Amino acid sequence: MTDVILETRQLTREFKGFTAVSEVNLQVRRGHIHALIGPNGAGKTTCFNLLTRFLAPTSGQILFNGRDITGLTPVQVARLGIIRSFQISAVFPHLSVLENVRIGLQRRFGSSFQFWRSDHVLKQWDAQAMALLETVDLAALAGVKTVDLPYGRKRALEIATTLAMEPELMLLDEPTQGMGHEDVHRVTELIQRVSKGRTILMVEHNMQVVSGICDRISVLQRGALLAEGSYAEVSADPRVMEAYMGS
Ligand code: ADP
Repeated sequence: MTDVILETRQLTREFKGFTAVSEVNLQVRRGHIHALIGPNGAGKTTCFNLLTRFLAPTSGQILFNGRDITGLTPVQVARLGIIRSFQISAVFPHLSVLENVRIGLQRRFGSSFQFWRSDHVLKQWDAQAMALLETVDLAALAGVKTVDLPYGRKRALEIATTLAMEPELMLLDEPTQGMGHEDVHRVTELIQRVSKGRTILMVEHNMQVVSGICDRISVLQRGALLAEGSYAEVSADPRVMEAYMGS
C-alpha cells in the first residue's frame, strides 16, 4: 500500500478566466522530500496557496491523510499539521532569534494571556526553543537580534519557527533562494536532517538541491502537471527540457 499523506484531485484555480492551476493530481508520499518545480508562472505558488487554503480552489479536492480538507480554513489546515515556512519577513526582526522561536511555540499552543505571563510556561518554551535552535545549528546565536543574522542563517531560523508548529507536512518555499554555495549546502543538509519523521513539499529552483535530496519531483507547466517521477526520470523527459528552455 502506498502511504499518501497529501493528494490533490483535479485541483484547479482560475483568476478571472485565467487558469493558474489546472486539474492537478498530486500525490505526496509520507516521509518523502517532494519537489514542485517548473518555470516562472507555472503555478507553484498558487498551488502552495491552495494547499494552505490561503486561496480557495475553483474546483477539485485536497486530501490530507485521506481526509477531504478542501473546505477548511487556513487555521484549521495548520492545526492538522500542514505548515508553510514563511519568508523571514514574517518573523519579528527586532526580537532575538530565541524570542522568535518562542513565539512559534506560543502560536502552536495558542496561549491565553494568563499562560503567556506564567514564568513556568515561559521557561518551558525557552527550553524547547533552544532545542529547536540546536536542531538548526542556531543555538549559539539565540540572543542575537534577528535583523542582525546573516541571510542564510535567517532561512535556518525560518525552518526552526516552522518546526515549532510541529508540522506533519512542511511546505518550503524556495528555501535556498538567493544563497551562496556554502549556505545552500548548509540549508540542504538541514532540510535532510529535519525531514526525518516528516514529509516535505518544497518549491525549489536549484536543480543540484532537487537532485541531491528530493525523492520525487512534480513538474508544473502553465498550471498543469507536465511530468512526475524521480530526478533521473523527469530530467530525462524531453518535455521537461523543453518547458525550461522555452521559459
Ligand atoms: P509560479 O509560482 O510557478 O511562478 P504562480 O503560481 O505565482 O507561478 O502564478 C501562476 C500564474 O497565475 C501566473 O501567470 C500569475 O500571473 C497568475 N496569478 C497568480 N496569482 C494571481 C492573482 N491573484 N490574480 C491573477 N493572476 C494570478
